[in-house]
Amino acid sequence: MTEELHRIVVVGGGAGGLELATRLGDKLGRRGKAHVTLIDRSRTHLWKPLLHEVAAGSMDPDTNDLDYLAQAHWHHFTFRLGGLIGIELPAWMQWIAFAVLSVGAMLAFRTQLYDRGRHRRHAESGTDANRRVLIPQTLAPGKSLRTE
Ligand SMILES: Cc1cc2nc3c(=O)[nH]c(=O)nc-3n(C[C@H](O)[C@H](O)[C@H](O)COP(=O)(O)OP(=O)(O)OC[C@H]3O[C@@H](n4cnc5c(N)ncnc54)[C@H](O)[C@@H]3O)c2cc1C
Repeated sequence: MTEELHRIVVVGGGAGGLELATRLGDKLGRRGKAHVTLIDRSRTHLWKPLLHEVAAGSMDPDTNDLDYLAQAHWHHFTFRLGGLIGIELPAWMQWIAFAVLSVGAMLAFRTQLYDRGRHRRHAESGTDANRRVLIPQTLAPGKSLRTE
């Protein structure tokens, strides 16, 4: 019995989704390691910063947009025309749990991660830069002293 391929579905072929589906298709779809599907409610993608030129009438969107079917063919993923209308509750709960865990982990560990990175940088630099020294006497303006 053949093992069923992992299925990856990307919803929305915008700046993020199109890049993601293209890369996943090149990396996994091409080698038969996963089946990648892109879903969008339009047949083509136009890079949004170009909309100013379309609005100004200096660009024809039909000649500058990217056809999802062609991109899918070139980059080994499947394109389906359609719109996402909702996610069933269990999937939502998974996402919420994932989001809560991500934010929680970031809040819990950010100080340790920051400190670890800072100390590593200091150790790698091999200098006294950024080191704190407590001076046991008052230092008058313009005066200097030597300390350990
Ligand atoms: C006029 C304009 C100019 C911009 N200029 C710049 C710039 O100069 N530099 C810059 O960095 N950024 C710029 N941006 C912002 C940039 O375009 C966005 O940040 C970027 O497009 C966001 O990418 P995205 O993948 O999240 O969403 P989008 O690119 O908006 O793509 C969303 C995609 O999802 C599809 N979709 C939406 N809902 C559904 C659904 N329910 N089911 C299926 N498909 C769905 C849509 O059809 C669309 O293809 C500009 C934006 C605009 C509007």
